[in-house]
Order: sequence, then C-alpha cells, then structure tokens
Amino acid sequence: MFNSSDIETFKNVWVFCEQRNGEMMPTTFELISEGRKLADELGVELCGILLGDDVDGIAPELGVYGADKVYVYNSPLLKTFTTDAYTKIITDAVAEFKPEILLFGASTIGRDLAPRCAAWLHTGLCADCTHLDIDLDNYLKFLKEASTLPEDRIERTKSVKLAGADHSVARDLKMTRPAFGGHLMASIICPRFRPAMATVRPGVMKKRENRRTAEILHPNFLLSPDDIKTEVVETVKAAKKLVDLIGADFIVSVGRGISKDVEKGLALAEELANELGGVVGASRACVDAGWIGADHQVGQTGKTVHPKVYIALGISGAIQHKAGMQESECIIAVNKNETAPICECADYGIVGDLFKVVPELIESIRAAKAAK
Ligand code: FAD
Repeated sequence: MFNSSDIETFKNVWVFCEQRNGEMMPTTFELISEGRKLADELGVELCGILLGDDVDGIAPELGVYGADKVYVYNSPLLKTFTTDAYTKIITDAVAEFKPEILLFGASTIGRDLAPRCAAWLHTGLCADCTHLDIDLDNYLKFLKEASTLPEDRIERTKSVKLAGADHSVARDLKMTRPAFGGHLMASIICPRFRPAMATVRPGVMKKRENRRTAEILHPNFLLSPDDIKTEVVETVKAAKKLVDLIGADFIVSVGRGISKDVEKGLALAEELANELGGVVGASRACVDAGWIGADHQVGQTGKTVHPKVYIALGISGAIQHKAGMQESECIIAVNKNETAPICECADYGIVGDLFKVVPELIESIRAAKAAK
C-alpha cells in the first residue's frame, strides 16, 4: 500500500522527460542537468521517466546531461499525451520505485500533469520554481546573495517546527519561487510527504553536459483504453510560427519607450535583430498594449531567457521583467533615463532616444561587417 508519509522509504531524484512526436523537449535537458546537481548533493541516482510510443531511441540522450537510469514506458496509448494515461503510468511508477524528488517542466503538459499526479500521490507540489537546493550551505549562500533577510534570520531557516519539534531541512528539497506578483521570493519545503514535487519553467535552469551511459529500463505496467476518459480527435498546430526566444543567442526587446511611434520602434528592433541574427522580445507593457504577440514577452509571466546578448530598448527594468532576463550573458540598455532600474543590471548603458540610437547601432554593425 503506497504511503507518501513513509518518507524514509523514498530514494532518488526523478525527472519527467517530456517528448513530443518522438523529440525530447529542451526543458527536459535543463531539468536533467538540475536533477544531476540535486542527486549529487543527496548522494543518490538521477532517473528519467519517459513515456511515449516507441521512444527508446531518444532515451540515451538523457545520459548526456547526467541521467543514471531511464524508465521507459512504450505504448500506442501513450503516443498522444492524455492526462489520464500519463497520470496513471507516473503515479504507478512512483508507487513502485518511490523517488524522493519528482521534477516536471512547467510546459502546458507539465502544468496539467504535475498537479494531477501530486493529488493522486497525496504529496506537495511547488509550481514555477526558479531555484532548487538540497545542500544547506549552498541554500544559505543563495539566501545571503539573493535576499534581504538579516544573517540571524537566514541561519534560523536551517530548521522548522514540525508537529512541535525541530526539523532540520538538510535533506528537504528547498523550492524557491516568486510570490505576491514577484515582490518577494518564497522558499517552500515538503517535509512530511514524498516525493517532493516541483515544476520549473522552460529556460530557467541551465543545460549542463555530464556524460554517462544511462541504463534503459522497461518496467511492466498496466494501461488499458478504459483508463483514458478523453479521446484526442485531432491536434491542430498554431498557424503562426511562434518566436523562439529561449533558444536565441541575441534578443532585441522593446518596451513602452517605443510608444511615440510603435510601428517604427518595432521595425527598428526587427532590423537590429536581423542584423545580429536574433529575435525580437518585449516587455509586458507592449504585449498588454497589443503592439506585439504574447509569445514575445520576457519576464516573470513571460519567458525566462539567457541569450549571449540582450538589448533592452526603452524598457524600464521592473523586477518582473528583470526576473526573465537578468541571467543574460551581456545586457545592453538603451534608455532616455540613466536612472532606470534596467541600468543597474546592464553591462553597457546607452543613454539616449532609442529612435536615434538604434539606427546608429545598425549602421555601426553594418560598417563593422563590411570591414571584415
Ligand atoms: P515602462 O516601465 O513604462 O518603461 C518605459 C521605459 O522607456 C522608461 O524607462 C523610459 O525612460 C524609457 N523610454 C521612454 N521613451 C524612450 C525613448 N524614446 N528612448 C529610450 N528610452 C525611452 N513585465 C514584463 O516585462 N514581463 C513580465 O513577465 C511581467 N510580469 C508581471 C507580473 C505581475 C504580477 C505584475 C504585477 C507585473 C508584471 N510585469 C511584467 C509588468 C512590470 O511590472 C512593468 O509594468 C513592465 O515591465 C513595464 O514595461 P516597460 O519597461 O516597457 O515600460
């Protein structure tokens, strides 16, 4: 009988490995990389759970990023994602193998599947995490760097009261996520139940190679058409190609600073992005104003990006925007106001009117290319 509160019997870190049409989603590699770190800190194995129809061919890819084992479940009933079938397989597998941590990407599928599994398993789920820790020293270091908490308060986070007694959080997964509209960060633990479950948005964790040969396993499982209450009649893809912000090396993002001539501002951003081989992003203000599609939005409620170069044109740098781009390798801010918060995290700041600065930037790039 599965008992999620029997926490001593749970071991290993698991990642739900999302694939679509037999192709691994990039978030899976990000989570495997992060899972590797957590598994090393716990001294346990990192395992992927991969569901689909005839997906053995892509399982070894997970070893590149550090998976020790991959549990593969193949069935024609798993070819197309349905919440019922995937929940059944995952919850049955958790009951059988008892992982202590289970991570999902916060994709449309992950956001649907993870809470359903958590409810079935009677455990806790922290959604949209931006930081995960096991090691206590690393966690305290993170708090010292990223929070405004005083030292003594940080020290006190080492333990919590649980049923009246002190409980050390040393082996608990510390899941940090923005709360109250991004104005504060909350660290959440799930000390009484296992697995501790978390979703992480695409692009938040970094992909890191950690090569090994993953052992591929095919556990027995039970799944019949009667387990599935929904029927996928047709899959219709969006006609418009969505912008690939997460995979881009160069992002030129526009903000409300383009408001005096939106069409020209967007055209300039597009031209600069084309010159760099990049794509156009935007602040939420531009998306809310209907100037650009929501798939371009960067930030807490948009996409998290870390390109080689992020150019912010007329963006003030509100905390919710910074949350999605401050990990970029190089940030260039073009702003009329030198005290705009974006300048605090920028490597280079150009103070001026973007409508004058951007054409000059484009000219300089073209001249530099011609001189090569
Ligand atoms: P503004 O703050 O109006 O800044 C415009 C900037 O342009 C100013 O700094 C100004 O000096 C400069 N400027 C003006 N004219 C020019 C010019 N001609 N040349 C150069 N510079 C010029 N925002 C996001 O971006 N992403 C999110 O995911 C997000 N999520 C949110 C979630 C919640 C719960 C909440 C409450 C807010 C969220 N926001 C998000 C909104 C965020 O708080 C800001 O309102 C928004 O980012 C502001 O957009 P902006 O910088 O384009 O506009």
